[in-house]
Amino acid sequence: MSSEHLLNNISNVSDETEFYTPRPAGYREGKTKYVVVVGSVMSGLGKGIFSSSLAKILKDKGLTVAPVKLEGYLNLDSGTLNPYRHGEVFVLDDGMECDMDLGTYERMLDQNLSRRNFVTSGQIFNRVLEKERLGGYLGRDVLMIPHVTGEVKLRLRELAVESDADVVFVEIGGTVGDVENAYYFEAMRELAFEEGPDSACFVVLTYIIEPPALGEQKSKAAQLGIRALLECGIQPHIVACRGRHRVTQKVREKLAMYTNVPLDRVISMHDCESIYLIPEMLRGAGMDTAVVDILKLHDRVHPEAEQKARATWSDLLRKQREADTEVTIGIAGKYTSVRDSYASVIKALEHSGAHAGVRVNIDWIDTTDLTEANVAEQLGHLNGLLLPGGFGVRGAEGKIVAVRFAREHRIPFLGICFGFQLAVVEFARNVCGLAGANSREIVPDCPHPVIDILPEQKAIEGLGGNMRLGGRDVSIKAGTRAHQLFNFATEVRMRFRHRWEVEPKYIERLEAGGLVFSGKAPDYPIMQVLELPADAHPYFLATQAHAEMTSRPLRPDPLYLGLVRAAIENKHPMTDDASQSADSAATGELTTS
Ligand code: GLN
Repeated sequence: MSSEHLLNNISNVSDETEFYTPRPAGYREGKTKYVVVVGSVMSGLGKGIFSSSLAKILKDKGLTVAPVKLEGYLNLDSGTLNPYRHGEVFVLDDGMECDMDLGTYERMLDQNLSRRNFVTSGQIFNRVLEKERLGGYLGRDVLMIPHVTGEVKLRLRELAVESDADVVFVEIGGTVGDVENAYYFEAMRELAFEEGPDSACFVVLTYIIEPPALGEQKSKAAQLGIRALLECGIQPHIVACRGRHRVTQKVREKLAMYTNVPLDRVISMHDCESIYLIPEMLRGAGMDTAVVDILKLHDRVHPEAEQKARATWSDLLRKQREADTEVTIGIAGKYTSVRDSYASVIKALEHSGAHAGVRVNIDWIDTTDLTEANVAEQLGHLNGLLLPGGFGVRGAEGKIVAVRFAREHRIPFLGICFGFQLAVVEFARNVCGLAGANSREIVPDCPHPVIDILPEQKAIEGLGGNMRLGGRDVSIKAGTRAHQLFNFATEVRMRFRHRWEVEPKYIERLEAGGLVFSGKAPDYPIMQVLELPADAHPYFLATQAHAEMTSRPLRPDPLYLGLVRAAIENKHPMTDDASQSADSAATGELTTS
């Protein structure tokens, strides 16, 4: 950020006052209201799903909503976090690498977000330190309060100005009492104080314990959790109780009593079958009207918009409910036990299933030990195969074996990012006869590096930050399957997160072998979508993009939808013919096709 922007674009700051309350230029007091969702008792309650559902039911009312997640960690973004520990790294259109919760918001709200919507402590402290070096604190000692909290408030008000939203929807990561998040709670208390009455609505998501030995719900942990919030000077307006079963009247009364929250605003958020039911569950509990009342937003609400949004959503639920057939799609990866690292992939399959009227069963296939000898046994029953994104050597050869099996046995196949690259490697080796073909990510000195780093990227290699990130336009070749799937659009926008790509000098050779590159970058020979023609395979498609990241419940990604539809067609994959060749593959007799 430029030093000019850091220092000049704010008002209300002087060395005379104890209130360090920077306002961005153009900020209109009272225009934007704030909903703040916090967690208590424990993490892992589905705060992201709860928050995004609450944001959705406000948006359904015709309100404009700008969500923001406040993360306690010191990383500047989520790019360096291990997805097997923290869940998938979600990439926004502007290239921001962020927490997977942002994906939940984008899907629930059907709205693209940007780096404005993701705040980490690292970003906050970074800005504070930059300002300090620029003399931005007017000779004052720089303190957690008011300067660091001031920076948090500034970020939220900047979001309010840029989005012009009716509601900035703030989710604080972690739970009340965490040291790393404490200053966010303080910042929110200050914000509500400064903005005045009817400007902020605090919602606490808590947990009601139900010890099996007692067989009854206990509210003490929730009481203590909310007391910790009160100690921060924050009086919640709404208490949402997670739990296995509907929270009893007795427990709700107890919580109301101890927390000063009216009984009808202590609501049960017990487990339900599908996350898509949560918006209606919240509406049923009166959460939407409670927020509108608390923030006095009545005159900004549009009932017709809400009716329409509810009808569209219930249509989706009906389709999901009525899905009477199943298909089984294999996801082949190296650590398939950690589902959160494939969150968007799972969602994209779910969206496609609802749209196509089927339930999608996912079979997790660990490729670490997958070989030509056992592949038929492991993949033979699948209706479709998905090879998701990934990094590194481990399991890569197994993945290549899986692609080959899907290609040769006409199993519908979709490769994503790394999956796209390995599909190219497999084709180069087994169809084009380029023995030892590989990605330089896997074998740096392989004889045929069909996947490599582009020359200009090589120049910046080693400087860090050399991933190709975010939304890019993709030109789709007319007359291809991709063209058809994208409803005959010739340019589409997709999301990327990769460092390696198809080495241009092999393109001609691969095409001569029968591979079709049906999507390319408009201005550079970067291959983005590949496919086999319909007469060669019922559905063999791969993309360098993370197509799952732009899939939405009401608008499934076309490539995922294509896979699911092809899988339905392929309900009986092992015809006699196919199982025979599978047997011969198992004994290693199969010649290259
Ligand atoms: N490892 C590959 C690359 O860096 C693929 C990345 C991915 O699948 N997200 O290009």
